[in-house]
Amino acid sequence: MFLKRLELQGFKSFADKTVLDFPSGTTAIVGPNGSGKSNITDAIRWLLGEREARNLRGAKVEDLIFAGSEKRPRVGLAQATLYFDNSSGFFPVDFKEVSISRRIGRDGSSVCLLNKSEVRLKDIIDFFSKSRLGHSGLNIVGQGDSDIFIRATPLERREMIEGLLGLKEYQLKKADAKRRLENTYINLEKANALVEELKPHLRLLKRQVSRYEQREEFAAELKSLENGYYGGKLKSLEAAVAGIEPKLVELDKNISAEQLRIKDSESALEAVRSSQPKANAEINAIQSKKKDLSDRQQVLQKELGKLEARLELASTPTELASAELKTALEKVRVLVSGLARETDIGKIKDGLAAVISVVETTLGDRKLGESNKLNQEKAKLSSDLKLLSDEVDQLAKKETELTAGLQQFNENFKKAFTQLEEERSKLSRLNQDKQKVSFDKERIVLQLDELKRQITEIGRRAEDFKGIAEAQAEDGSATLKRMFRLRSELAGIGEIDESLVKEAKETEERYSFLSREIEDLEKASTDLKSLIKELERKIHSDFSAAMKMINEEFTKFVKLMFGGGRAALMVQEIDNAPSDTVNESGVVVEQNNSEITPGVEVEISLPRKKVKGLDVLSGGERALVSIAALFALISVSPPPFLVMDEVDAALDEQNARRFGELLKDFVKKTQFVVVTHNRATMEAAEVLYGVTMSPDGTSKVVSLKLE
Ligand code: ATP
Repeated sequence: MFLKRLELQGFKSFADKTVLDFPSGTTAIVGPNGSGKSNITDAIRWLLGEREARNLRGAKVEDLIFAGSEKRPRVGLAQATLYFDNSSGFFPVDFKEVSISRRIGRDGSSVCLLNKSEVRLKDIIDFFSKSRLGHSGLNIVGQGDSDIFIRATPLERREMIEGLLGLKEYQLKKADAKRRLENTYINLEKANALVEELKPHLRLLKRQVSRYEQREEFAAELKSLENGYYGGKLKSLEAAVAGIEPKLVELDKNISAEQLRIKDSESALEAVRSSQPKANAEINAIQSKKKDLSDRQQVLQKELGKLEARLELASTPTELASAELKTALEKVRVLVSGLARETDIGKIKDGLAAVISVVETTLGDRKLGESNKLNQEKAKLSSDLKLLSDEVDQLAKKETELTAGLQQFNENFKKAFTQLEEERSKLSRLNQDKQKVSFDKERIVLQLDELKRQITEIGRRAEDFKGIAEAQAEDGSATLKRMFRLRSELAGIGEIDESLVKEAKETEERYSFLSREIEDLEKASTDLKSLIKELERKIHSDFSAAMKMINEEFTKFVKLMFGGGRAALMVQEIDNAPSDTVNESGVVVEQNNSEITPGVEVEISLPRKKVKGLDVLSGGERALVSIAALFALISVSPPPFLVMDEVDAALDEQNARRFGELLKDFVKKTQFVVVTHNRATMEAAEVLYGVTMSPDGTSKVVSLKLE
């Protein structure tokens, strides 16, 4: 038992609340024409989700509401509820009983309830279709619709079969996959077009950006070279300046010290100069006196000579004496002539003593009388000479003393002077050194200024190079050449355009995004294609297997009904050769005739009749073929219930019995609700409901249980 109960109120002719319980097996609804039987099947169809009034035999939705009669006013609401026994878990919900209610009002209101909870009509349709039930399938065969399968187009037949087999779900999935595949192709095409559009622009931007990257490399190399070159130079020049300073300070110190020393030496020289003795005049006086004395000595000598000559004469000298005298005279003459040229007082003195000695020796103690006087004179003369000699000695001594003093002074003077001269030349050397060092400093400062000017010229500041340890390793001229080259390269590249870099980055990102999207879309298209193939395989295999079984049953039932003959459902033949083509974007698009779903043809040949085909069948034959087809279909996939409204109307008694037998056979798998006028059918039923049209113009139901 599946359909449990139907409750109606205000629905079409059922103005009052009416309840129909459905037992398992077959329920037959009987009654006179126009009593309202078909209104019951309409109610079930409505509850299964039908929304079209004309499929419910009405012009508009309002026609479902009791319109009133001569004796009964119309009502404002129509409502119906269908109860299902869900103890088998047919519906995937945790309820033993499932109820569906619909209610409409003349005010246009419409309410749907699923287990008393308000839902949308769509939810109800989905709920049933998930369980392969529905208002449009083969669950309800309406009045006059018994040949629904036979009269349907081949494609409609296929859909009915698929619906029965539950393949609709796969068809929907397939249609959805195809739609998604189509969208994927469109998106792929768009993405490919965008990528193609982007490519040349991106190439251009990349080229420029790589030039910028090169610029950074150049700039870094230039900076490093500048750091090395200018930094190195600055460092060495500043070190040179710093090295010179202490030298200058040292030189200044030495110069000051030297100047002090010179002052001291000048004072010392002055002191020496002021101590100069006045000895020269004295020496001159002494020398002049010595000259006088010498002159006098000569005079005395001459006199002495004369005296001695006289003495010689006076002493009568012997032959020998005369010879001796001659010799003595000769000696004296020699001595005196020597003395005449002599200026040295000491030597004069010695000479005189020698003369005296010669005279005395010659004369000896030959004491000549007359010589005494002469001797006295001579003695006097000698004494004078002696005095003179002493005086000369005195003068000589004095002169010696004076000369010695003068020499000492000269020495001191010379020493002090030499000292001063030495110090002066030392100072001069120091000044020269200072001048040289100052000149060096000047030169370095000039070089430093020039370097700083060059640094400013290249747009940097000298402070930038402070603390840079990079040594100036390369050859200066090679570095200068390289720096020049780098600067011209940088000028060629120009300043970095940040907006261009940004655009390149964004374009690159967009390109990667699109590439990834293309990859994803290609993968999605592959997946979808394989899903479609899989679904097609599933549909095809289920459908083929079912068709085989349906055909077997179909023939069996036709033979049963007609006592022979043949019947078959044939899938239309369609050329399915695939023909892939490539679209504008290079995407391979599968285009084959699998788009065209082949329908199902019915082939029939009845016993003893030459003519074949459906069009030539009589009304009863057509009804029999339809019933055979219907039961062949439900035999493959029995629905939980089947409502049939007068499908047996055209059958003769014998065939009506056969129909009743069929019902009995199928009732184990399917619950039937049949509207019938046929006794044989009624006999096949477990429960009979009699429907009557009461005098107040409303339908009434009477239950007639047949046990
Ligand atoms: P038959 O055996 O001839 O097929 P039936 O028992 O199936 O007849 P139905 O077609 O179910 O009869 O009922 C039709 C009856 O219901 C008609 O008499 C019609 O006037 C009545 N009816 C239909 N709609 C309404 C409505 N909205 N209000 C009142 N009565 C209605």
